[in-house]
Amino acid sequence: MAKDKTLVQSVLGLNCPNCRKGDLFTKKGVIVYSEMLEMPEECPNCNFHYEMEPGFWLGSLWTSYPIIVLIEVPFLFLALFADGAMIWVYFGAMILSFLVAWPLMLRLGRSIWIHVNVRKGSR
Ligand SMILES: [Zn+2]
Repeated sequence: MAKDKTLVQSVLGLNCPNCRKGDLFTKKGVIVYSEMLEMPEECPNCNFHYEMEPGFWLGSLWTSYPIIVLIEVPFLFLALFADGAMIWVYFGAMILSFLVAWPLMLRLGRSIWIHVNVRKGSR
């Protein structure tokens, strides 16, 4: 029998918080640009209902925001202390990194949020 995933493996693997086996999203991976937030209603493995109450995912703004701040702040400081044209290079890198990290922020933010609210085997 396969060993159960740890909490961190389940969060990063975008798995169901209840069984840690089923996928949270229809498409796998953290960097996915089409159907980025497409999720099944229930876990395909344990039938745990993901959206526990209306507006549940609004709370994931609290967990996705720090992810993008961590990614963007270094570029902000580089731009603040740069001279001349380098300011625009760092500013461009900031926008580019935002576009690349956008799905990661949204999907990982939702995964962290549901794992904060649901303990393994609780339903
Ligand atoms: Zn499940």
